Amino acid sequence: MKKTYDVIVIGGGPAGYPAAIRAAQHGLSAACIDDWQNYDGSRSFGGTCLNAGCIPSKAMLESSELVHRAHDEFAAHGINVGKVEVDLAQMQKRKAGIVRQLTGGIEMLLKANKVDGLQGHGRLLPDNEVEYTDPEGKAHKLKARDVIIATGSTPIELPSVPFDGERIVDSWGSLEFTEVPAKLGVIGAGVIGLELGSVWRRLGAEVTVLEALDSFLPMADKAVAREAQKQFKKQGLDIRLGAKVSAAEVGDTGLTLSYTDAQGEQSLEVDRVIVCVGRRPYTEGLCGEGVALAMDKRGFIEVDEHCRTALDRVWAVGDCVRGPMLAHKATEEGVMVADLIAGEVAEVNYDVIPSVIYTAPEIAWVGRTEQQLADSGVEFKVGQVPFGPNGRAKAMEQAAGFVRILADKASDEILGVHIIGPMAGELIAEAVLAMEYQASAEDLQRTVHAHPTLAEVLHEAALATDGKAIHALNK
Ligand code: FAD
Ligand code: AMP
Repeated sequence: MKKTYDVIVIGGGPAGYPAAIRAAQHGLSAACIDDWQNYDGSRSFGGTCLNAGCIPSKAMLESSELVHRAHDEFAAHGINVGKVEVDLAQMQKRKAGIVRQLTGGIEMLLKANKVDGLQGHGRLLPDNEVEYTDPEGKAHKLKARDVIIATGSTPIELPSVPFDGERIVDSWGSLEFTEVPAKLGVIGAGVIGLELGSVWRRLGAEVTVLEALDSFLPMADKAVAREAQKQFKKQGLDIRLGAKVSAAEVGDTGLTLSYTDAQGEQSLEVDRVIVCVGRRPYTEGLCGEGVALAMDKRGFIEVDEHCRTALDRVWAVGDCVRGPMLAHKATEEGVMVADLIAGEVAEVNYDVIPSVIYTAPEIAWVGRTEQQLADSGVEFKVGQVPFGPNGRAKAMEQAAGFVRILADKASDEILGVHIIGPMAGELIAEAVLAMEYQASAEDLQRTVHAHPTLAEVLHEAALATDGKAIHALNK
């Protein structure tokens, strides 16, 4: 007998599980099929985000940042801790515990919402039938009125530096290191490369980041990218731009990376290398015979702005479709689709999706950069205020960086907010909300901010767009 659902979601990451839960909240019968497998063969919901991405990386970033503070900042507070020793096994255990609690929480939420959480592989067949293969290899035929594909993404492999799981690893592999490599190479200075490079640098590795592009963080506002490069250099991250890696030779004790830069052929000896050159959509084994799901040339499933594919009542959300590969973007799409299936009006505001890099200082932005505004001929004003004179930042001993607000010169609407500094990832939420409501700089100026808080810098930056900052010089 074929089991029938209103909605079947294929993929249980941050795009898939919220879609299934929201569908169930609408009173629809829903199943969420997820094929995630951990290194030890165990299974857990939550996809890349919870098992191998956002969550374990942030756990390690937090721990390693504490090591850095204990080492370099505690003395300034008058706290002498002597020699700081790292117990990496305990650090990894804590991280694994957080992952276990959160993935277990998803399983519980699926159950509580009466979603059938099915661990195993899902394959889309014609007429919205889905073949579900359970962990024992037994295939089951299911059918749904609507199918949501949320199969996510996987790391891109460099053919010249193939993963071996030992010396050449992807981001997940690097989160599982059981010892701190003395010399670590990172290929790619994107968000993931910088975060993971920071983790291992703070834990004592000598880290060299090789980046093919000549510019640093080209997607960020130029002023922020410049400040970030300066801060990372101070922390001892050796970031080499214009360095295109072409080969790796693995030896008994380490490996040699070959790369070309403006000076010609170069090489770098490291113990291990993390390849962080981006991710690609994952759709392997997804479509059964007779299912012609349109994909673009990079392998993303083609969808419209409401995540509809060309197939009737088949939707696709998250990393396997166009747009930024971010967990919160994935979730918003999954929830939007479930709402649309239930007959509600729903959309995702793609213009106001925040980006965060969890380095120290943190980097966060929303909206357009100065480069983008200049390229599109928009006239804008700038309010930039440093964290330096902010009382809370000083108390935290974290006063590097600034907030930069770009607002339309004529209408005063906020067009972009760029932050580098303490808790930037938290502070950006206010900017996102302001922009969601199309706030003007004056709206932020007139909003009361508690004192002393880091958010006061955002307030001052809004004032600075009109030359009215009180605690900073208006330029
Ligand atoms: P995924 O999380 O990849 O989930 C897809 C799921 O579908 C997986 O469990 C997969 O096994 C399953 N699946 C695939 N095919 C099938 C099939 N045929 N049948 C059944 N199941 C299937 N984003 C942020 O927003 N903030 C961060 O701080 C952040 N940090 C990151 C750090 C790292 C190291 C990495 C690698 C990524 C990070 N990301 C971050 C990105 C974030 O993890 C992804 O954007 C997010 O996980 C995408 O969600 P998704 O549900 O589309 O895909
Ligand atoms: P992201 O796409 O943000 O995860 O970043 C990946 C980064 O890796 C990009 O900045 C790419 O330019 C960089 N990259 C890709 N291939 C190479 C290579 N062969 N050598 C060095 N850097 C690379």
